[in-house]
Amino acid sequence: MEYDYLIVGAGLYGATFAEQAKKRGKRVLVIDKRDTIAGNVYTDNIEGINVHVYGAHIFHTNNDRVWDYINQFAEFNRYTNSPIANYNGEIYSLPFNMYTFSKLWGVTTPEEAKAKIKSQKSEMTNKNPKNLEEQAISLVGKDIYKKLIKEYTEKQWGRPCTELPAFIIKRLPVRFIYDNNYFDSKYQGIPVGGYTKMVEKMLDGVEVRLGVDYLKHKKEYDKLANKIIYTGPIDAYFGYKLGVLEYRTVKFDTEVLDVDNYQGNAVVNYTDKNTPYTRVIEHKWFEFGKDSQGNHLPKTVISKEYSSEWKEGDEPYYPVNDEKNNSLYEKYKALGQKEEDVIFGGRLGEYKYYDMDAVIDVALKAAHDALK
Ligand code: UDP
Repeated sequence: MEYDYLIVGAGLYGATFAEQAKKRGKRVLVIDKRDTIAGNVYTDNIEGINVHVYGAHIFHTNNDRVWDYINQFAEFNRYTNSPIANYNGEIYSLPFNMYTFSKLWGVTTPEEAKAKIKSQKSEMTNKNPKNLEEQAISLVGKDIYKKLIKEYTEKQWGRPCTELPAFIIKRLPVRFIYDNNYFDSKYQGIPVGGYTKMVEKMLDGVEVRLGVDYLKHKKEYDKLANKIIYTGPIDAYFGYKLGVLEYRTVKFDTEVLDVDNYQGNAVVNYTDKNTPYTRVIEHKWFEFGKDSQGNHLPKTVISKEYSSEWKEGDEPYYPVNDEKNNSLYEKYKALGQKEEDVIFGGRLGEYKYYDMDAVIDVALKAAHDALK
């Protein structure tokens, strides 16, 4: 065998595993179907602006080990995510905090805000939330559910909130202080110079072949290595033989505009059902409107995000982790465990709505176990 490890997918899981294996003296080959590394964290530089081509990625974590690890490959800026919501032209602060409550109800103190929410969720008292709608109402009451959650979530997921798992909304904090920081994380930031540069550093000294479709040439590639790390969709690996796992895909409509400030914020969520896109990203604000030399940028790049149901040939983004799909995934996982020399990892390999830090964490653990 020419290699100890063949790593399918040059995203964060694959790059982390590759870096660890190389460091321990293993012979590693990384392949990716795309012509670019970095998976969905890939950034392209347009007009001096690092554009998050596959959707906005804001690194945040509470995990010291992951933070120390990733800081070897990039310097992180002090960007703090504070998206705003636009509901039919009304602007609200996110995540749900005293600024949001104050604008919505005219309340000024935490006590008033809590009383308002309490009165709006009375029917939920003593009930265990069974789905996203019940979970949202019991967290923030009916008004916020209506203006900031229901229509956005139904656009994003293409399913009624009563049919979605409650955990999706639990990602968002609810705070009774004036604090627009979206994440409850100890560390947060964007890699200076973009994610592509960061992943390039992780893969430094590792052989990478791009534009290679593993599943099309599986037999050939399997002959090259003792072990395989597969980070593509697990159902595709098995030829969809038990059925197709559902995903949401996102289409990005990206434009360069001849203005220096389009929306005054990196992320604006359109939480009403009348706007066809879910959010608009203005990429330059992830880096304070400046290029890598600190120069002011005269133009701007924006991306409108449109969410739709994934079908074969689309990019899979969000696994739809409802009961039906999770139980199908468990069957694929059992098949995967029978593939002795293959590790399935990452958002697609494990069919899990992972954040970046969690993916790095599981890849470090998998590498640690495999390489000891
Ligand atoms: N969400 C919402 N309103 C918002 C933002 C988020 O209802 O303005 C809900 C929605 O269901 C979404 C979930 O919260 O799927 C998680 O949002 P997050 O911003 O964490 O999602 P991501 O950035 O991964 O798309």
